Amino acid sequence: MNDDQLLRYSRHILLDEVGIEGQQALLDGSALIIGAGGLGSPAAMYLASAGVGRITLVDHDTVDLTNLQRQIVHTSARVGQPKAQSARETLLQINPGIEVTALCERADDARLAELVKAHSVVLDCSDNFKTRHAVNRACFEHKVPLVSGAVIRFDGQISVFDPRSATSPCYSCLFPQDQPFEDVACSTMGVFAPLVGVIGAMQAAEAMKLLIGTGTSLAGRLLLLDGRSMEWTSIGVARSPDCPVCARPAR
Ligand SMILES: [Zn+2]
Repeated sequence: MNDDQLLRYSRHILLDEVGIEGQQALLDGSALIIGAGGLGSPAAMYLASAGVGRITLVDHDTVDLTNLQRQIVHTSARVGQPKAQSARETLLQINPGIEVTALCERADDARLAELVKAHSVVLDCSDNFKTRHAVNRACFEHKVPLVSGAVIRFDGQISVFDPRSATSPCYSCLFPQDQPFEDVACSTMGVFAPLVGVIGAMQAAEAMKLLIGTGTSLAGRLLLLDGRSMEWTSIGVARSPDCPVCARPAR
């Protein structure tokens, strides 16, 4: 780290749990963010400001006026621009010392596998079950930890699925792929703006803890937030022995 970086990251370096080594781990680390919307905005901005060295944003969509109420990485002037590109611009304004790649595409399974393999942590900030399952499968196949968040109306949830742990469940253990979940996207259902900020910022915190290797992750726990009462509920979740994604044959 040069003098500029030592100053920029000094409030991290002062923390016993981070220190020079932890900050260096962030600078050497890489994060793949699926979705540059409500959750992806705060998640990406914190990872950038904190100095995660390489950030890749994937989003096929363009910035719409209805996004700006909660997707704080975008601006009024960028309505109509690709979201990944708009987010990249903001992140580099916050921290020009990192590398940010904007992918304006909808990644299929093969592309996801390629992207997941090339990063040290994945943040699922998407808004539909099909994408969440595809990201989960890629993460477990390639043993890359996944920080998963979701928000709808006044409800939020967050968990970590860590394929490197033999006991961590995966997204599919909680929400089986064959279960006919109704996709209620916030694009049509409404979402209380600061809740994506709360959950997205927590996704950044969990991702950074994983990169640094400090604290205890949310693997094995699902946190649910009721924004009306501001009550958190923590539910212990175990690996499902029948899960087609993460169950391993008994030895
Ligand atoms: Zn599973």
